Amino acid sequence: MKYNHDPKLVEQIAHHYREIIKLLGEDPEREGLLNTPTRAAKALLDNTHGYHDDARAIASSAVFEHPGSNIVVVDGLEFYSLCEHHILPFFGTAAVGYVPDGKIIGLSKLARVVDTYARRLQVQERLTAEVCHAVADSMPNKGVIVVVKAQHLCMKMRGVEKQSSSTTTMHYTGCFERQEYREEFFRLLEQRTV
Ligand SMILES: [Zn+2]
Repeated sequence: MKYNHDPKLVEQIAHHYREIIKLLGEDPEREGLLNTPTRAAKALLDNTHGYHDDARAIASSAVFEHPGSNIVVVDGLEFYSLCEHHILPFFGTAAVGYVPDGKIIGLSKLARVVDTYARRLQVQERLTAEVCHAVADSMPNKGVIVVVKAQHLCMKMRGVEKQSSSTTTMHYTGCFERQEYREEFFRLLEQRTV
């Protein structure tokens, strides 16, 4: 997605990146680094653009009548986020399941809700809970479940964890408090990956 950023804000952040580059012992005036502070500032603003988007408004902007009450599962919602402890990327996919109660939510909106909460300084646990509650509040439903699987560069790059490791978090409401509903969700998830 292409965002428009306030040029004054870009320059303020770029100024600090220039200072950081100097503190690293580099020369911000050398050719390869000349435009890096501005590019880095724009990248940071892109990756934290979720602060300007209203996830709940996005979620409730495409809600449709639906008479059924079978579980809906949407998997593979890709996201890229920044861990709030190190400002390093963590990224992966989210799966959202819900049991409708007269309404369903547009599938593309689920992807945008995940993206909106991901583009902030985040922790994976909060991302998972925020997506779950935004979806749960956007339409009538019997329950919502969100599972997020991600890799954290702050762990991988610093050698804290094995390279192949990933972290899984889960949050749920309503009927998913009951194990049989969670089992149905995971059964459908497994089928999709075959
Ligand atoms: Zn971290």
